[in-house]
Formats: sequence, structure tokens, C-alpha cells
Amino acid sequence: MPQRFPLTLTRNTMPAAIIPFEAFAVFWIVYIVLGFPLAFGRNLALKRRFARPYIIGSGIVFIAGMALTGLPLFLVAIATPLVGLITWLNLRQFRYCSACGATAFYFPFARPRFCARCGADLRSDSASPAA
Ligand SMILES: [Zn+2]
Repeated sequence: MPQRFPLTLTRNTMPAAIIPFEAFAVFWIVYIVLGFPLAFGRNLALKRRFARPYIIGSGIVFIAGMALTGLPLFLVAIATPLVGLITWLNLRQFRYCSACGATAFYFPFARPRFCARCGADLRSDSASPAA
């Protein structure tokens, strides 16, 4: 009998899920919705306090969700540094304007330099969760 490729994902090769995928999906959607005030709101104090833990938490929740819903651990191990990188980029690039409180959405690998809403210079703005 030929050896089956061990990485084939079937019901038989998947580890048992500790929590159902659907439950994680609902939790993930709730987590994202809870982040809307950080992304779209203009409450600067809220952003200063919660943006950094929220971004770090999203990486942790995502990795934990992958492991707990029964994804093979080698895939979790592959994904972890990628999620870590994305989390670091988010911390570095997610900025908000201290003049108007708007979130300056980033472009990949480039920090926003000006507020898209009020045009304030963000380069000297320390209102970044990574700062
Ligand atoms: Zn602004």
C-alpha cells in the first residue's frame, strides 16, 4: 500500500477541534466589530488606550483560533511567524491623527504621512500604537 502524503487534510488527519469552527468564526466577527471604533471612530483617548492591545490580541486570537478549531499544528507553526509579522506591521503602520482623531489607513510597507481626513502632518505625530 503506497504511503499517503502525510500533510493531506482530511477528516481523519485533522486533529480534533477543541472548539467548533463556527464558534470561532462568530467570536472572530465579534472581535472585528469591537475594533470598528478603533478603525473608524475618532475617539483619540480610546485609540491610545486600546489600539495596541487590540492589534496584539487579534494576532493571539487568530493563532489560538487556528489551533483550537483543529487545524494541524504544523500549519499553526507555519502561520504563527506570518501572523506575528502582520501584527508587527499593523502596530507600525496603524496611525491616528492627533489633530482630528481619524485613523490613517496604511499602505503596505509605508507609513501614512498625512491625515486623509484633515491633511495634518503625521510624520511627527506620536499617536501611533507602536510609538
Ligand atoms: Zn486628521
